[in-house]
Amino acid sequence: MIEIIDIHCHLTFKEYDTDREQVIADAKQVLNGVVISGVEPEDAKKTLELAAMHEDFIFVTLGLHPIHVSGKTDQEIEHYAEFISENKRKIVGIGEIGLDYHWVRDPLKLKRTQEVFVEFLGLAKEFDLPVVLHLRGTGSEAIEEGLKIISDEDIKKAVFHCFTGKPGVAETICEEGYYISLPTSIMRSKSMKKVAKRIPLSHLLTETDAPYLSPDENERNVPQNVKAVYEEIARQKKSDVKTVEGEIEQNFERLFGVELK
Ligand SMILES: [Zn+2]
Repeated sequence: MIEIIDIHCHLTFKEYDTDREQVIADAKQVLNGVVISGVEPEDAKKTLELAAMHEDFIFVTLGLHPIHVSGKTDQEIEHYAEFISENKRKIVGIGEIGLDYHWVRDPLKLKRTQEVFVEFLGLAKEFDLPVVLHLRGTGSEAIEEGLKIISDEDIKKAVFHCFTGKPGVAETICEEGYYISLPTSIMRSKSMKKVAKRIPLSHLLTETDAPYLSPDENERNVPQNVKAVYEEIARQKKSDVKTVEGEIEQNFERLFGVELK
């Protein structure tokens, strides 16, 4: 029985425009579920359309990626929040949302990014949905800041997608009851391997962030590459892949409230 999940990828992106259905058909051979995250209003519509074509296999979260905040007016963001509200029964989470100190540096823009982040956390609370967090750069700064914001906002269910922070920070996150998701780039990252070793299996999730973060840096990533993350976690835990698969499936179902077929 297949029990492999990719909790974060972008199958709506242009990188799949020529062979999207083939990529999904291939993914179905290896995985039993993928979560695609809408990053802005246009993408959000595409994610819902794609999920409707692949019911019980593709699940959707909707959010506003921090790099898309400054290009949107307050009114556009309001409309988008309404759109999410209208579609709340079709989604399993809010995200990706968060902070990006790598691409967004201007203090005023950062402040607004933070405000929008908090606004979207409000949607998650209102609809009782988990959040998928994008917290990036410099060092662990964005991660620690994000962690503080979600605990201040009393968020109960969250996953730190593509976790790039230190193992110590990962431990704090798990103690607060949140999840850490490790991507395919774990193959190239010593610190991600350490996180896999130190964090209890009950708090880990697996993702590709495809089309990005391929195990082979120069290639387009695809959901089935998530297998490599399971194998690496099993190696770090000195466990077998089957055990890792079973636990991660349970984590997925617990966090997103979805039962996989
Ligand atoms: Zn993403």
